[in-house]
Amino acid sequence: MEAGLFGGTFNPIHNGHIRVASHVKQQYNLSKIFFFPSATPPHKTNTNLAPARDRYAMVEQSLADMNGFYASDIELSRTGPSYTIDTIHAFEKQYGPNVRFFLLMGSDAFFDTPSWKKYKAIFLAVSIIVMPRCANGQNLTIASFLDEHISKGYTWNKEKKQFTHDRLQSIYICHAPKIDISSTMIRNRVEKNLSIKGLVPSPVEEIISKRNLYL
Ligand code: ATP
Repeated sequence: MEAGLFGGTFNPIHNGHIRVASHVKQQYNLSKIFFFPSATPPHKTNTNLAPARDRYAMVEQSLADMNGFYASDIELSRTGPSYTIDTIHAFEKQYGPNVRFFLLMGSDAFFDTPSWKKYKAIFLAVSIIVMPRCANGQNLTIASFLDEHISKGYTWNKEKKQFTHDRLQSIYICHAPKIDISSTMIRNRVEKNLSIKGLVPSPVEEIISKRNLYL
């Protein structure tokens, strides 16, 4: 079985997350995708961070009716900062050798990986599917990024849209449409009392309003 791992702050989850993940699921024929909100994001010193349990509830309720999409609280049950490499190992341990995992990342998160704990171990452990992202302020190409920050040994396979390496796992470039929605946009709209209809699943609207989040 092949499954996706999709981590994020999900502060809150929005339709951009869901649409790109649906595209990836179909394009790479993944049986399941696990969305795992991070409890204490090591990178986002966000002043408007909703409680982890609210962010998890928004993910869980948004995915409830979606086939093959699951919410995982794996990072919420650990104490201290959430590191992706630990989560990958925990999933591998739980599901055993018959499941091949792919890590899903927007291009902004992908370019940020060199600041993550043991980031090279991530490239050794799992294949990564990179999803295009609007206006992420990065002019680097993925090829020069890999060359400069990860390893010089990657080869581009144009037909498969995949970088391969003889020691590290492949990097897949997903051609999902760019969707211009971010959690920052949602939080800003809530703060200004603007509608977020159509930008987030309806349970997210309900939880934000009930719990007075992002005001
Ligand atoms: P924020 O605006 O607070 O930075 P975000 O919208 O980037 O949040 P995250 O929870 O940080 O959301 O993102 C989790 C993962 O989803 C990251 O890999 C990110 O790149 C990816 N992602 C988020 N929104 C999109 C989008 N619209 N298209 C593609 N990938 C996305």
